[in-house]
Amino acid sequence: MFTPSEKYFLFSIDLEDIRFRMPDGEKYAERVPAMVDKYLEFLSRHNSKCTWFTVGDVARKYPSIIKMLADEGHEIACHTDLHIPLTKQNKESFSNDLKRNIESLYNAGAKNIMGFRAPIFSLTPNTQWAYEVLEQQGIVYSSSVLPNPNPFYGWPNFGENPRMVGHVLEIPMTLGRFFHLRVPIAGGVYFRLYNYKALKLNFDMHYNAGRAVVSYFHPYDIDTEQERFMHPDLNGSKLYNFLMYYNRKSVLPRLDSLMHGMKLTIVPYRDYIADIKPSLVVG
Ligand SMILES: [Zn+2]
Repeated sequence: MFTPSEKYFLFSIDLEDIRFRMPDGEKYAERVPAMVDKYLEFLSRHNSKCTWFTVGDVARKYPSIIKMLADEGHEIACHTDLHIPLTKQNKESFSNDLKRNIESLYNAGAKNIMGFRAPIFSLTPNTQWAYEVLEQQGIVYSSSVLPNPNPFYGWPNFGENPRMVGHVLEIPMTLGRFFHLRVPIAGGVYFRLYNYKALKLNFDMHYNAGRAVVSYFHPYDIDTEQERFMHPDLNGSKLYNFLMYYNRKSVLPRLDSLMHGMKLTIVPYRDYIADIKPSLVVG
């Protein structure tokens, strides 16, 4: 097991624009640049840099944002080119997709790309061919697995700790207990659904076990002014769509409280890896 030397909170943003997943999305207001600014204010309050898992189409639309993040010392990593889950790709299509993703990030000003996150935790036992593609294209770590013990969702029995899959270090999503379910604690809708005390308890449990807490946030998770519309990929479910908007106003204040109250350290994933497995990080 790789043991970190600090209470790392692997805070990260999945930098995507929900409008690009919708046929008529462009008719809605542009929200990504303003949300990037809000996250940057949070990070600068805590003197921190983080990792931005960025979709290729966002890098092409907002190259100056990517350049600014990279120049300020944040890590830019891959989140596929068009946000197509691995379950809808094969080795060849994914290889081409990742190539375009990496190219677009470098064109926009990213440096030393070494990380990857699959859309919607789509790295599962059935798509683990992806690790070979990642390795071929110089990716040294992935943070794409939902290590859910439930055999119907995620990667059952992957384990909660980072481990090597072939030559790639997989850093699985941190799970907590939510009633009888195991769900991520530090990301998306789950972070907004927990009450604060339960969040803190779950964070503590992982730090006591010598692990980092792995997270994923999106621009929309903190967007209290986004127009109401049916989000894509929810099968038209009104309940899921309600949850997409639920309690967004709590996210940044809760993050501030966790940082202050628990004395956490946010670093880009590459720095965390340099701590737990220095041999993976070159340059
Ligand atoms: Zn995503």
